[in-house]
Order: sequence, then structure tokens, then C-alpha cells
Amino acid sequence: DILERHRRDPLQLLQILIELQARDGWLAPATLGALADALGMPRARVESTASFYSFLHTRPAGEYRILFSDNITDRMLGNQALMQALCDKLWLQPGKVSEDGLVSVATTSCTGMCDQGPALLANGRTVTRLTPERIDEIAHLIRRRVPVGDWPPEWFHVEDNIRCRDVLLDHGLAPGQALAAALERGATSILGEIERSALRGRGGAGFGSDIKWRSCRDAWGDAHYVICNADEGEPGTFKDRVLLASYFDLVVDGMCIAGMAIGANKGFIYLRGEYRYLLDRLETRLAQRREQGLLGRNILGRGFTFDIEIHLGAGAYICGEESALIESLEGKPGKPRIRPPFPVTNGYRGQPTTVNNVETLALAALIAVRGGEWFRAIGTPASTGTKLLSVSGDVARPGIYEFPFGVSVAEVLEAAGARDTQAVTSAGAAGHCLAADEFGRRIAFEDVATGGSIMVFDASRDMFEVARNFAHFFAHESCGFCTPCRVGTAVNARLLDKLAADHGSPYDLDEMAKMHRLMQGASHCGLGNTATIAIDDMLVKFRPAFERRLHSPDYEPAFDLDAALSQARRMTGRDDPGAHLGDNRGALAEE
Ligand code: SF4
Repeated sequence: DILERHRRDPLQLLQILIELQARDGWLAPATLGALADALGMPRARVESTASFYSFLHTRPAGEYRILFSDNITDRMLGNQALMQALCDKLWLQPGKVSEDGLVSVATTSCTGMCDQGPALLANGRTVTRLTPERIDEIAHLIRRRVPVGDWPPEWFHVEDNIRCRDVLLDHGLAPGQALAAALERGATSILGEIERSALRGRGGAGFGSDIKWRSCRDAWGDAHYVICNADEGEPGTFKDRVLLASYFDLVVDGMCIAGMAIGANKGFIYLRGEYRYLLDRLETRLAQRREQGLLGRNILGRGFTFDIEIHLGAGAYICGEESALIESLEGKPGKPRIRPPFPVTNGYRGQPTTVNNVETLALAALIAVRGGEWFRAIGTPASTGTKLLSVSGDVARPGIYEFPFGVSVAEVLEAAGARDTQAVTSAGAAGHCLAADEFGRRIAFEDVATGGSIMVFDASRDMFEVARNFAHFFAHESCGFCTPCRVGTAVNARLLDKLAADHGSPYDLDEMAKMHRLMQGASHCGLGNTATIAIDDMLVKFRPAFERRLHSPDYEPAFDLDAALSQARRMTGRDDPGAHLGDNRGALAEE
């Protein structure tokens, strides 16, 4: 059934694997072999995809698979103690499967619930606002083997937490109204309005949407494609979750308008695996729109055909990078392509493809109704319109804030009820970290550029631990394709662990700085190039938090070298002072 539903199409490989795992609990070798035969693909190709994604298990992972969200904001809310408590109650170690094969408990990167954490995924379903009492109940339900689908429904409730609305979140348009306005204007006029609006991509890079759409429209191909990048994986970002949950028609209108503008009849929404809970709702709404003439053949009787398919991700941050996303959409491991060629000419199936952020598409729909000049009057000359910010951490009111570009960081902090703030990360783990004397700076591409993640740290927080959390995040999420990033992110995490274990010296900080320079210049894609930005800022602006961890003025290994020599001492029958390091280094040198 699963294969037939996916037309035995190798491009659907990732979707098929996700569904096979949902059916069986894991992807057994026999399953992968049979799948390779059925799709007529080399088994190695199937295995490489199955082993790339964090949410796919090629070994038994338990009837209940519990993944605690491990963003720094989850840590600040006590996720580690909660995870340990669950493990204690279930008699297992974090990262392991219980001996009876019933349950595994581990961590995963940010699940996009920073405004209502700590959170976890139970067999892929999101449980928010964890407390010690809820952990007790979860352990009880697992021990009684109650299916996750029968757990209390209120546990799975995800709030929008919209705190501040502007033109986007208060748009007041009916479903399809923006699309009707765009069809009335026509493709050329829409491209003109997008150009006049000076709309820039909201994922963080800020590329001009009109240039992207025009380049794609002008590229030769058998077919053109629109992809909505709903893989927001940046730690601390959850704005697209809210747009998909409560503003979906505007996003779909935006996708249809993009399709009309570039000459595409097909679009994809690449939905991050952590937002699996939204899938059925979104599929239902797409089906309703088809019945209402707002999607599919001959939309609104205007002769325009455009339809949308939703693909799920499976826990890979790198798939937020557009070429990695396209690889994933084609059923492959999400590794960034070598560019050029760019997706606008050689994207999905090698055809011209525009990849846009969820927020960008929603704004494009607004522009189709209200016009480019209207939009351009909001924000700053170089950063037009409004920006959705996901604010979390040490604030009284975590949630979604919509502000015109140009708002200062201090104004955002004030609105969110932040007190005694020492630091703000302005673009998740991959952007700059601002200290208190920079809070007068403005959110805008020309000043503080952001994809929308604003994490706030008050004076009680140890910025060293923030840096260590970010370093582990990148070490886990590096796709491993290029050496500077694969090795650099791992070394970075190990050096910070070494400082945490009281084995650090100034040498380690110097090594880290050297490694960062190398990674920023030589990594293949944005992940490696940006993985050190926030940590570099913290090293400079919060230096004492790192220097407090330095144990020795001289180089010291990360492990106890003297203890490691004990076997050699036993073999040689020596245990005199000269056979020891530490205080006896001098004696050893004399020998
Ligand atoms: Fe992969 Fe990192 Fe290289 Fe990007 S920079 S291709 S994520 S290894």
C-alpha cells in the first residue's frame, strides 16, 4: 500500500521510509533490501538515505521512542533533569534502548517549541510544557504500554503564543482572496509588484524575491517548481510553525502566486519532521481548497493549474539549506549541492525551482492584494515590510512578535518582558550574539540580520554553557560532506567539553579561534561558515565565562595522562615518582 501510494517512485524514497518506520517502529535490513528491489534501486542508495536522517532508525529503537528537545532554552527550563527522571523511572540509560526493547530515551535538536518548553517527541508526536508530574505520568503510561495515540490529548496541544501583530498577522483576508487578486493582475504585473515591494527572503539570507522569481521564470526547463521551505530548524525559531498552523491559506495563496509568476504548475511544502503533528490538518485543508476551486485544475475558473504536495523531513537541520532540501525532496541524503548551478536553473529534478521561506510566501500574498508601494512604505529602505520574531529564553512573554523592520533589540526585549538581560542571540545558533551595549541596534538586513530567532539570556546564565550547547548542536548537525566542517564542529565541541571538564588552558582557546577561521573560509555551505559566529562573539564579549574554565596556564590533555600510563607502569613493574606525570614531570625529564 505504502509503495503504491507513492507510485513506486524513487524520488519518494524518504517519504516511503518514514511511513515504513511508522508501521514497523524501525527500518530492518530485510525491509531496506525489499524496498531496494521494489524500487529497482541499489540497496546502498536506500541505506544511505535511511542512515542519514536522525529520525530514521536502522536499529531497533523501542516501541516507544522518546526524544527530548535539547535546545539551550530547553536546558534553561530543566530538560536534563526531566530526562534523567524519566530514565530513572524506566530503568534505562539516556541514549539506550531498554533491555526488553520497550523504550528508548535520547535527545534531539530544537523541536521548535521554545515558547512552550521543555518539550519532547513521543514516537514523533510533540508533547510540550513538561513538568516532573507529567514525566511521572509518561513513565506510567509507557510501563502500562498505552499507545501514544491514547495519551491525554491536551498534552499534544501546541499554542500559537502570538504576542504582537502587524500587517501580516492581522491581514484580514479571506482564503483565496490574494490569489484572486494575483490572477486579476497577471504574472507580469505580480513580478512588478514584488520588485516594487523590495521583498527580501525571510529565511535569513535576505535575497531579493523578485530576482529569484524572475531568474527562475526565465530559466529553460520542461517544468518549473515552487518549494515552500518549512524546515525551520534554527534553534529558537518557531514562527513558521504558527504561520502553517493558523495562516495556512495565506501561505498556500503565496505558493500559487509564485507558481503563476514563474510558470509552475507544481509546488512542494517541505515540512520539518518535528511538525509532523500539523500534516493531517494541512493535507485536509489542501483537499478542501481543491474542492473550493482554490487549488488544482483551473483555479477560480481562470485556466491556471497548480497543485501542492507535502513532504516530510526527518530530523536534519541541514535540509533548511535550499540545495540540501532539494536533495532530500528527491529522496536522497540532505547534502548541499555544489553551486553553481543554482536551484533557479537546476533545482528539483534538475528543473528551474524557486525555494522560498514560509513567511516570504505569506508576504508575497499580501503584496498581491495591497501592492508593492504599500509594502515598501513599511520598515526601512533596505529592509522593507515587517519581520516575525520568535522570542524565547529569559522573557516573561515568549512567543511570536511581528514588528516593522527597524525595531530596536531593546524594544523587542521590552515588549517581551525581559529583565536584567546580558545577551541576545539574534539569529539562533548561527547568528551574532549581542551584549547589553548593543541592544540599541536595529533588526534589519543592514544592521542585525535575522531569520527570526531571538533567544534571550539574563545575567544568571553561564554564556560558556550556551556556547557549548551551540557547538554540540553543530557537531551533531554537520552533514559530514566536507572536512573543515565535519572535523571543525567536532573539535570545537570537544575543546569546550575539555574546558568544562577542568582540563582547559589558553592554548585551547587559541586552537578554537584558529579552527573557526579555517571553518569560515573553507566550508562548503552556510552551516560550516556560520557555525562559529555566535561562539566567536561569546568568546570576545563574554570572555570571563570562558577564562573561568581555564585550569592550567600550560597545555593539558583532555584526559588524565598519568592514569592512562598505569598499564605501562604495571607492565614495566615501575611505580616510582619518575614513572608518573603531574608534579613529577621534572623528574621524568631528568631521566
Ligand atoms: Fe555538510 Fe558542513 Fe560541509 Fe555544509 S559545511 S556541506 S553541513 S559538512
